[in-house]
Amino acid sequence: MNQHLRSDPVPFIDLAAQRRRLGQSIDDAVGRVLAHCQFINGPEVTQLEAALAAYSGAKHVVSCASGTDALQMVLMAKGVGPGDAVFCPSFTFCATGGAVALAGATPVFVDVDAVTFNMDADSLKRGIVTARQLGLRPKAVIPVDLFGQPADHETIGVIAAAEGLFVLADAAQAFGATYKGKRLGTLALATTTSFFPAKPLGCFGDGGAILTDDDQLAADLRSIRVHGQGSDKYDNVRLGFTGRLDTIQAAVLLEKLKIFDDEIAARNKVADRYAGGLGNIVTVPRVAQGNSSIWACYTIRLPAGTDRDAFAAALKAQGVPTAIYYAKSMHQQTAYRAFPVVDGGLPVCEMLSQDVISLPVHAYLDEPTQQRIIEAVRGALAA
Ligand SMILES: *Cc1c(COP(=O)(O)O)cnc(C)c1O
Repeated sequence: MNQHLRSDPVPFIDLAAQRRRLGQSIDDAVGRVLAHCQFINGPEVTQLEAALAAYSGAKHVVSCASGTDALQMVLMAKGVGPGDAVFCPSFTFCATGGAVALAGATPVFVDVDAVTFNMDADSLKRGIVTARQLGLRPKAVIPVDLFGQPADHETIGVIAAAEGLFVLADAAQAFGATYKGKRLGTLALATTTSFFPAKPLGCFGDGGAILTDDDQLAADLRSIRVHGQGSDKYDNVRLGFTGRLDTIQAAVLLEKLKIFDDEIAARNKVADRYAGGLGNIVTVPRVAQGNSSIWACYTIRLPAGTDRDAFAAALKAQGVPTAIYYAKSMHQQTAYRAFPVVDGGLPVCEMLSQDVISLPVHAYLDEPTQQRIIEAVRGALAA
């Protein structure tokens, strides 16, 4: 019995369907680790780093314990600290600016583009001026490839180079996406990603990675993830922490990487069907010309005047879950209110936080179920 009853709740992300598809191969992969018992720095970790480097084109991949650690490790390696300004979009997951604050530096929040939801280059330029006026040293910029779509990396790279900033790309939601035909991973000094289970390439726990072409940075990151070790384990030459990826998670990721491109293609089909079914009643996401998204989220904007809570409740009553990424931009969060924002404020971030809502998207969303979601959205808006 596999028919879809109209009342069956739709999963927001269907990890169980992926688990069924992977089947015994993933049990076997985990079983091999249980047999060799090299739970830390086992052979699968090295294999995964090589596979991710081949996949992305990056020279070095340093796996680590989470996407947040990945950001923080790069900031530590580059000596970012008190008095330094690091520019972040405010419409993002809190880890982006959080890592900056944890490093002791100052996140300076800049605005985003209303179409791509990614960092607005003009706002970044103004933010750099704001930071200098506040007596901060502009040090780095963290563009986020939000919801799976690459940021405007070329424009941001030019601004950063002119101002002497390094670029740390937060691709936690977009590993596998392409920018002008190239996969993310080589467009910035360092690109970080996350393998949290709900990300498009997720493991069975926490995990992350840093991609870079810089030999020295890669070596420093490898040291930081093991307590700043030097030539041997008990020689500590810098600050560091326990930042490693577990071997079991690497084994899981090696299996998932084999089907990743196929899953990305399936996610794109889902996005195309949403655009076709909803494009005339809500603002559907658009991917900038020449780029591709991996659709970590499918985030629409509701028409002006729509009661978002009532809309979400109407969908929920039909078994369709939604999520709001992000109901508050970072500068509106209690923990981050004290940090500076670009002169002129963040009107686009604040507008998006009011009118966005995300629909279920994953590689196993079949056409009848998606049709049901589309009808529920249309019905809720017509009501
Ligand atoms: C998920 C996410 C992170 C953090 O990744 P974790 O692995 O959960 O630490 C950082 N930045 C963005 C944009 C994210 O979506």
